[in-house]
Amino acid sequence: MYKITIAIDGFSSTGKSTVAKRLAKALGYIYVDSGAMYRAVTLFAMEHNLIHKNQFNKAQLIKQLDAIKISFKFNKKLGFAEVYLNGQNVEKKIRTLEVSQFVSQVATVSEVREQLVLQQQSLGKDKGVVMDGRDIGTVVFPEAELKLFMTASAEKRAQRRYDELIERGDDVSFEDVLKNVQSRDHIDSTREDSPLAMAEDAIKVDNSNLNLDEQFEFIYSLAKAKIAECN
Ligand code: C5P
Repeated sequence: MYKITIAIDGFSSTGKSTVAKRLAKALGYIYVDSGAMYRAVTLFAMEHNLIHKNQFNKAQLIKQLDAIKISFKFNKKLGFAEVYLNGQNVEKKIRTLEVSQFVSQVATVSEVREQLVLQQQSLGKDKGVVMDGRDIGTVVFPEAELKLFMTASAEKRAQRRYDELIERGDDVSFEDVLKNVQSRDHIDSTREDSPLAMAEDAIKVDNSNLNLDEQFEFIYSLAKAKIAECN
């Protein structure tokens, strides 16, 4: 059976990864969280003092890019691949609000994007992949057979992210999470290199009023129809 490439892009905290993971599992495809890669680079920068007191040393990060090795390892128990930075599992560390506050700045750096896009393309070269991010349908896999663009109101998205962080035990305020979601949307949509934009041939999914099952069923039916069409 011919396998397709599925690109899921959209604004921050639209639940892309939740639906992408479930979709990959249902189809027997691999799932790649491209945002986790930008987060891992950001964590590296923070741990090496390249981000310090709100100052981001972009030139030094570019110089040290060769020292950053990102990989994914499938965790059977969790049912998805976790991200590793230089051999260390950083899946939890990259999800903090601190990393979220700097990741969009790091993601504006073309040298970082170039390197990560190549790795993303290599991870998806055999197709049978569901990848989520901001530029997957426009830059990474412009030829993807199925492209989705997820959106929801900023308040709904911030509430979901806030609930997640609180459940993990993080001490955050709803206002800070909302500000972060809005600020990342702004930086991601206005940056020069590969801005967040809906591909012309993408299908827009506004999930403000859809629960997880409804959203999954809708997207799963789109994927099955596309796979049938391609076979
Ligand atoms: O998807 P997630 O929210 O984890 O992504 C974190 C950040 O990484 C985004 O806000 C964006 O700045 C950046 N990103 C990107 N291109 C991608 C995936 C993520 O610029 N393909």
